[in-house]
Amino acid sequence: MENNTRFKRICVFCGSHAGHRKVFADAAIELGNELVNRKIDLVYGGGSVGLMGLISQRVYDGGCNVLGIIPKALVPIEISGETVGDVRIVSDMHERKAEMAREAEAFIALPGGYGTMEELLEMITWAQLGIHKKPVGLLNIEGYYNSLLTLFDKGVEEGFIKPGARDIVLSAPTANELLRKMEQYTSYHDHVAPHGNWQMEKLGDYPKEWKS
Ligand code: AMP
Repeated sequence: MENNTRFKRICVFCGSHAGHRKVFADAAIELGNELVNRKIDLVYGGGSVGLMGLISQRVYDGGCNVLGIIPKALVPIEISGETVGDVRIVSDMHERKAEMAREAEAFIALPGGYGTMEELLEMITWAQLGIHKKPVGLLNIEGYYNSLLTLFDKGVEEGFIKPGARDIVLSAPTANELLRKMEQYTSYHDHVAPHGNWQMEKLGDYPKEWKS
């Protein structure tokens, strides 16, 4: 059992579908197991559809806390299914993302569609801007995100992404490896604006040494 983790709560972005191949469902359950082994609580989008349902059920069954943050438009059971653990209903997608960012100390994206990618990109962008300094990890199952990672490299090569900012995105093919990288992560890149300018109280408390 791993108990030397620096995280109490991680937000996982993932598909509202499970994908065609079993390897993606297995990866969601495996990430759930890794969180449980480390006694890390889960923040996620609420609902029981797709990979979201698999990871939330696994973390809940493993005895850790699960917090689903869901906009009221997606609450009906026929849209999102039954949610395990605690549910926080918010007014819209913007509020959901801000709440997820505030509640968690780190973010992980499992494979997913537009919604997952948008959430991942927003947390990367917020890190670049200096809004937060929390680790952002991509669980690159079977190379699902290879082309996205290649696009980020292209962004650096063509001068649209600073080389230091490229390091914001951590990735690994297994949950264990990714969590180890995230545990060691320190934010070194230059922020676009000072962290203090972003009224961070809206996104939760930080350890003092993270404040700039
Ligand atoms: P996607 O990666 O496109 O499947 O979208 C995942 C994101 O959209 C997550 O934030 C989900 O919470 C949200 N989402 C999409 N469909 C649903 C649904 N039926 N119930 C709950 N959340 C959903």
